[in-house]
Amino acid sequence: MTATIASEVQNGVLPFLMNTGGNRTALRGRLARVDGIASSILARHDYPLAAAELSAESIALAACLSSTMDFEGIFTLQASGNASISTLFADVTSAGAVRAYAQVAEDFDREQSLGAPAALIKLMGTGYLAFTVDQGENGRYQGIVPIEEPDLNAVAMRYFYNSEQLDTALLLAAKPDGDGGWHAAALMLQRIPETGGNNEPQPFTDEEDDIWHTACTLMATCTRDELIDPNISPEELLRRLFQELNVAVLPFKMMQDECRCSPDRVERMLDGLEQAEKIDLADDDNKITVSCEFCKKEHHINI
Ligand SMILES: [Zn+2]
Repeated sequence: MTATIASEVQNGVLPFLMNTGGNRTALRGRLARVDGIASSILARHDYPLAAAELSAESIALAACLSSTMDFEGIFTLQASGNASISTLFADVTSAGAVRAYAQVAEDFDREQSLGAPAALIKLMGTGYLAFTVDQGENGRYQGIVPIEEPDLNAVAMRYFYNSEQLDTALLLAAKPDGDGGWHAAALMLQRIPETGGNNEPQPFTDEEDDIWHTACTLMATCTRDELIDPNISPEELLRRLFQELNVAVLPFKMMQDECRCSPDRVERMLDGLEQAEKIDLADDDNKITVSCEFCKKEHHINI
C-alpha cells in the first residue's frame, strides 16, 4: 500500500523536472495545490458558485505561473470582460502571498451551475487576459491574450502558444469540497529550448520531441478530479503520471492567503484626494472608512 497525505490542506507549488536524456533537462513542470488559500479567500466573499469556481481557477493558475519566475516582485493575473464578471484578479508575491477578487454583477444568476471547467467566456464575454510581472525597479513585463476560448485553461494555453512560443500543457481544476471550502489546483508542463552560442533557441531533437509528446500524453490521462484529490499528495500524483520519464521533484514552495493592505497604504491612497473630497467621504467623526476589496478589512482613517 502506498502512503498518501489525506485531507491535508495544501498551499503552494511543487516544481518538478523530467530528464530528457544526456545532460539536458529541458522539460519542467509545476503542480499548484491551493485549497486552503482558495477556501479562505472565497469565504470572505459572497460570490455565486459559478463565479467562485472561476476565481478559484484563477488563484491556482496565478500560483502556478508565479513560481516559474525567479524574481523578487509580484505576478498578476487580470482578466477584463463585458459580461457578468467584469474583472477577475489574482496576484502572488515572490514571498508567496496570494490575493484575489472578482467583480461580479449584482444581477448575476446565482442559480447558474458550475462549468467544470469554469465558463470563462460565458461569464466574462468579450475581453482579455493579462499576465504581468512587476519587479519594481528592475522592470515590468506584461503579456495579453484576448478571451476567445471557452475557459481559462484554453485562454492561458493560447497565450503561451501565441506570445511566448513555449510548448506548454496546462490543466486547471476547481471544485467545492462539500464543506464550504474549495479544492483548486493547476498542473503545467513546459519545455524550454536550450540556447546556443548565438543565444538562439536550438531546435529539439527527435528524441526530445518523442519525450515531450509522451509527457503530454501521460498528462492527458490526469482527470480534474485526480488533480484536486486531497487524498493524492502532489508527489504521488506526479509519480503516478510521469514515473516512466524519471520525474524528480524540487522543494515545495509554500504560499499563503495574505493581503498587502495597511492603514499606511490607505492613507497614501487618500493623499491623492482634495480636502473637500475627503470631507465628503468622511463620517461625523471625520473618519473615512475604506474597505479592502481583497480581504474585506475595514480601515478607518482620520482626516
Ligand atoms: Zn486587504
